[in-house]
Amino acid sequence: MVPRVIFGRGSFNQLSDILAPKRLNINAPFIFLVDDVFKSNSWLTSRIPLSYDDKIIYISAAEEPKTSQVDDLVEEIILSNKERPSGIIGIGGGTLLDLAKAVSIMLTNEGEAKDYQGWDLVKNKAIYHVGIPTISGTGAEVSRTTVLTGPTRKLGINSDYTPFDQVVLDSELLKDVPNDQWFYTGMDCFIHCVESLQGTYINTFSQSYGEMALSLCKEVFLEDNLTSKESQEKLMMASWHGGMSIVYSQVGVAHAMSYGLSYLLGTKHGIGNCIVFDHLEEFYPEGVKLFKQMKSKHNVVLPQGICSKLSDKEFDTMIDIALDLEPLWENALGKNWKKTITRKKLKSLYIKM
Ligand code: NAD
Ligand code: ZN
Repeated sequence: MVPRVIFGRGSFNQLSDILAPKRLNINAPFIFLVDDVFKSNSWLTSRIPLSYDDKIIYISAAEEPKTSQVDDLVEEIILSNKERPSGIIGIGGGTLLDLAKAVSIMLTNEGEAKDYQGWDLVKNKAIYHVGIPTISGTGAEVSRTTVLTGPTRKLGINSDYTPFDQVVLDSELLKDVPNDQWFYTGMDCFIHCVESLQGTYINTFSQSYGEMALSLCKEVFLEDNLTSKESQEKLMMASWHGGMSIVYSQVGVAHAMSYGLSYLLGTKHGIGNCIVFDHLEEFYPEGVKLFKQMKSKHNVVLPQGICSKLSDKEFDTMIDIALDLEPLWENALGKNWKKTITRKKLKSLYIKM
């Protein structure tokens, strides 16, 4: 679990106080990995507390994080600084948060990021790392994984050293998120809740967080004014609770299939989950009904036919990626999931998308 968190509008201003005691010495900088959408946004960047050799590295979130990108960043940081950093601070959505987690792990562990994709492969404690979300839904701020696309698979580095040491939840940072992205990333949270609550891995710990997050998602997407301060705070906490829920359970069918889309077509996580979930009535009837209500209330039109021109070989690649995620299928459908989920079944679902 994340050991330290502060919450509140304007709490970003406390960053300097939070970081000061963690500075190892003047040659060990803090490195801020910041979504480049903020590059010309002095409202945010002028408040990043830089001293000594501290640096901002702007990174585009146009593509999801890659293992090779993590390795390049680690090399850049090692080569351009006198000492190992005092800390890595990720500012952005799931993309930047995952990069910050992965870079902080790879600064203290030998080899390449791809070697650590999986469960509990990380040997050494990561460098101190702080997560500051600027969009809410993925739960990456609280989770025990950092999802990376590697040469052969899209899979997280899941370990006890992955979670942030500190998270800053300042809902004011969400104020400029475009409406469509707000919906896609918010739906990631909604889908986490449905998949966790309906899964066979469910337990009281996960259920309590999942129910809280689900109820907040319903308020945000079915009742509230989407862009109000209250909505921003509610979705921020929904993301947190939804993330906590899956830390101790698992996601399900939508995530398994969306990883396939993402690996082959580069479809981003939030929108990819929406595209898949829209066709999963037979697995999550209540959840999909609610999803369609939310979609219609916010006039969201999802891309159609994204798999219509794929070759058999491409379908096979997506199906391989999806089927590889065994814990997700077992959570969704139980130990005998292979009886229902055949390659033919997955192809028939992908064709609809
Ligand atoms: P994102 O980080 O990919 O960002 C989406 C878009 O929103 C980008 O264009 C970004 O520039 C923009 N944006 C972000 N904050 C903004 C702001 N305040 N104002 C204006 N624009 C803003 O979005 P995401 O949906 O949060 O993250 C998706 C990533 O999270 C994927 O890579 C996925 O694999 C990962 N993920 C990780 C976990 C985990 O537990 N580690 C869980 C789910 C998803
Ligand atoms: Zn997700």
